[in-house]
Amino acid sequence: MGGVALDAGFVRRWMEGIAAGIDEERDHLTQLDSAIGDADHGVNLARGFAAVRAKLAASGDEAGPGQVLITVGSTLISTVGGASGPLYGSAFRGAGKALGEAGSFDAEGLLSALRGALDAVQKLGAAAEGDKTMVDALVPAVRAFEVEVRAGHDVAVAIRRAREAAEEGMRATIPMQARKGRASYLGARSVGHQDPGATSTALVFRALEGAASPAEWR
Ligand code: ADP
Ligand code: MG
Repeated sequence: MGGVALDAGFVRRWMEGIAAGIDEERDHLTQLDSAIGDADHGVNLARGFAAVRAKLAASGDEAGPGQVLITVGSTLISTVGGASGPLYGSAFRGAGKALGEAGSFDAEGLLSALRGALDAVQKLGAAAEGDKTMVDALVPAVRAFEVEVRAGHDVAVAIRRAREAAEEGMRATIPMQARKGRASYLGARSVGHQDPGATSTALVFRALEGAASPAEWR
């Protein structure tokens, strides 16, 4: 599985994988948000990633991976209302800024991009682990990725572990009581439901894994 080139093409495959995943999961995400929010999370992200698809299709091949991510983030900020638009938008912009101008990156670069995303989400939303938000999927995923990279494992292995940790973090939101976002208005009634944003974050990591595995290449 080694040797995947981490470049603009990789980032574009990742973004296309997210868009396709959201098309499939839109109703599920909206259903989760109807339990503890206002039933728009799937619709919000579907609108945002439809705009991302159009924007990336229209943007030239000369854009580097960092620039592609910044474009994705800016597009989400300008097309998605609600909490998740600015949060995901800032996350992708933060990841893109961390990559800078280079044409390709390595596992360390991807780690700094993931950290950049997490920092941006926490700077904007001020959520910590345990607040029942996307942070509960993102923090363990970034942590797992870092552990694998520090252990010298292949980037594809690190990505798979990050995806597993994101999914574990997503499921761990079920018994939590929400302390941030709309779900927090429900108080104890938010307990027993999986957080929509943690669910879409796990999807983002599944798409990352797809972009890194040759079997998924088109
Ligand atoms: P809205 O809540 O405005 O309707 P969405 O439904 O699109 O927006 O997104 C809801 C998700 O946003 C939640 O499930 C949660 O994961 C995430 N979220 C809400 N507030 C915060 C925050 N302060 N920090 C991190 N994530 C948050
Ligand atoms: Mg909502």
